[in-house]
Amino acid sequence: MKEGCPHLAESYRFAEPKPKTPQGCEECLATGDQWVHLRLCLTCGHVGCCDDSKNKHATKHFRSVQHPVIRSFEPGETWRWCFADSAVADLPGVAVPVSAHP
Ligand SMILES: [Zn+2]
Ligand SMILES: [Zn+2]
Ligand SMILES: [Zn+2]
Repeated sequence: MKEGCPHLAESYRFAEPKPKTPQGCEECLATGDQWVHLRLCLTCGHVGCCDDSKNKHATKHFRSVQHPVIRSFEPGETWRWCFADSAVADLPGVAVPVSAHP
């Protein structure tokens, strides 16, 4: 079995940052666009929209600043995703490589 990514395990060792725009995707709010689901960057607290949204700001955020780990910002969802390793985790220390998108 492949070893899990270090970023997800690391992300559970620190308190998550305060969401900068808890009311929605930072860039979409600025442009008046709409989103489908929200993702929270666990490095800086950026809130971005998922890949089902037309602007895909969570992915764009990773590409521009290389913050690897996000978590779902949807109510009741706790899973985390590492862009760098395409790995998902829903329990501390458990990372499973998958082929899904964020
Ligand atoms: Zn990783
Ligand atoms: Zn957006
Ligand atoms: Zn970030």
